[in-house]
This record gives sequence, C-alpha cells and structure tokens, in this order.
Amino acid sequence: MNMYKSYQFRLYPNDSQIIMIQKTFGCTRFVYNHYLEKRKKEHLTCFDMIKDLPNLYSEYPFLKEVDSCSLRCSLFDLEDAFKRFIKHQNNYPKFKGKYSSKRSYRTNYITSTYKERKYENIKVDLKRKVITLPKLKEVKIRGYRNLESLPGRIINATISEYSSGKYYVSVLVEVNHLVAKIIPKRIVGIDLGIKDVVITSDGEKIKNEKIIEKYEKRIKRKQRELARREKGSNNYYKTKRKLAVLFQKLKNARKHFIHQITKKLVLENDIVVSETLKVKEMIEEKKFSKSLTDVCLSEICRVLEYKAKYYGKRYIQIDTYYPSSQECSKCGYKNEKVKELSVRNWICPECGSYHDRDINASQNILFEGIKKYVKELI
Ligand SMILES: [Zn+2]
Repeated sequence: MNMYKSYQFRLYPNDSQIIMIQKTFGCTRFVYNHYLEKRKKEHLTCFDMIKDLPNLYSEYPFLKEVDSCSLRCSLFDLEDAFKRFIKHQNNYPKFKGKYSSKRSYRTNYITSTYKERKYENIKVDLKRKVITLPKLKEVKIRGYRNLESLPGRIINATISEYSSGKYYVSVLVEVNHLVAKIIPKRIVGIDLGIKDVVITSDGEKIKNEKIIEKYEKRIKRKQRELARREKGSNNYYKTKRKLAVLFQKLKNARKHFIHQITKKLVLENDIVVSETLKVKEMIEEKKFSKSLTDVCLSEICRVLEYKAKYYGKRYIQIDTYYPSSQECSKCGYKNEKVKELSVRNWICPECGSYHDRDINASQNILFEGIKKYVKELI
C-alpha cells in the first residue's frame, strides 16, 4: 500500500534566504486574497485561476521574483477552502492576514530531464544536512539523525515560520509500505480523559507527562502576565514572544508523548477501540472548550488511526450514543448515579461488582468494539 508520511526538519535559512521566504509568504498570501476577492464576484474554477495567473504577473511584477509553483499551490488551497465550505466542513474562506501565528507556503515536487540530466526542484541530502528548494537553493536543516535518506518519493514541501520566529520545512513523502495481514488476537478498549489521558480495559492508566503539565502552568501564568501589560508596549511584545516559545515547547512535548502512547497501544494490541470524541462530549456533559486537552485527545485519535493502518492493525471508533461509564461491565445494570463526574468508584447494586469509573468505562468500550468488529465479519 502507498502511504504518505511527512518529515519535519528545522530549517536554518541565511539572511538572503529569509528575505526570499518572507517575500514568498507575502506573494502567496497576495494571490490567495486576490482570487478570493474575485470569486466573490464571479464563478471561477481552479483551472480558470491558474490560467489567469500569468496576467497577474504583468500587473504585479514582484510576483515573478518568487517560486511560481508556490503561487499555484495557494490557489489549490483556495479551491480546497471553497470545497470544504460547500461540504459544510468550514466557514466561508477568509482573507489571509499578514500577522497570523503561523505563516507558510507549499511547493510541489517537479522533475524534468534535459540532455539526459535529471533536474529536481526539491532535493533532500541527509548526509550533508541540506535541502534544495526552488529559489532558495541549498538550506541547512536539522532532524532525523538516524535516517540516511528519505524512504520514498517526495510529493511536496511546506516552509513555515512559527510565531517563535523559528523556521521549519515539512517534506511529504510517498512511501511504499508493505503491510502484513494480522489475524487479531489482542483487543483493547480505551477511555480518553483529562487527568489520566488514556485508561485501558486492562486497567492501565496513563497520566499526562509532568513536563506537559509544567508547560501548561507556565503558559497560564504568562497569559495572565500578558493581560496585565499595556498593549503595544515593549514588555507586551516581550511577554508575547516568550509565550510563543512556551507554546512551541508544549507542542513538541505533547507530540512526543502522543507518539509514545499510541505506539505502545498499537504494538501491544491488534485492535484498539475508543469512543469518538463527539460522543464523549455528549455523555460526560462536560463543556469541552477548545482547550489544550481537547486538541490533545483528538490528536491521539488521529495518530491511532494512522499508526494502526501502518502496522496492519485496526482502530475502531464507537459512534453510537452509549453511556459507557454508567453501565456495569459485568451485568449491564445502568447506574444513573454514576452520571455525576465526582463518582470515581462504585459498587453495582445488581451484581455487587466493584468498579473504578474509568476502567469500567473502557471495558464497556471494549465490548462495544468487539460487537462492531464481529458485525463486520458477518
Ligand atoms: Zn453489575
């Protein structure tokens, strides 16, 4: 099977490369906004826009200075934004602002042969630690020390600048991955939570790492500090920058943590079952704000899905309305009293079983997962 995998490297552009990257951010944003404005007045297909693009060059010659492929990519992005809008997956496309927290542009891999020599616009040399990018030539990179070369065909590269001021490049690679068919033997149900991030039906509780909590606390403190500062003052920007660095650190720590727990779950089991987060939100009657935890849980689901596929295993999500924490996993008795989140342990009035709230929930999730899996087999 063909899979897409992205490799992210820290990018170390020199001064003139930084100028070119910044120019490209500006030009891709300009093209995006220009055609968004146009599409408000007339219907344009993606093909129409790409055909019209050279006309824009004569009017705005600065567009010629940057990688033309990146401009076409921003039109593909605009097209995607409209498609998602039509499918009700997001709001009407918005204009791109100059000061968004993460700025980026994408460029596609192009190859050609001239006089029996092969030319490629994107090349990654992991021995010399450089990436070749259109208009930038060679840029220093860091990351993937144990890799000798990228294990597949390059599709595209996305160059980003985070609000911390650091540059990254993410290279998307098509990998031909052989997946062995596994006959499932071990199946586990997991409950996703806040204090314990993952609770398995085997009774294991995986806590958020201390370092993540530490960063979260520091971020909260800095956010309060920022609120006290006078907007636009020197100290305001200083605090804002420190906050951006902390967010980046938190993101990296969380990425590492999610990678570890999902890998363990997928390697130790053949089928992993969880509830969809939408269901969880309904059942727990919690206000799942767009908090940091919320992002973390949906990321766990996304990575589980991906990793399960990668190792030839299954990740099943249960989508039915199902009060997993209220039902006794031994006899099926529904205990309304457990609805209260403060109830951490309970004894089933029907069969007398002692339950830890979360472990009981994950065992119910496991049974629902088995039911769904068996139904698929028939
Ligand atoms: Zn019971």
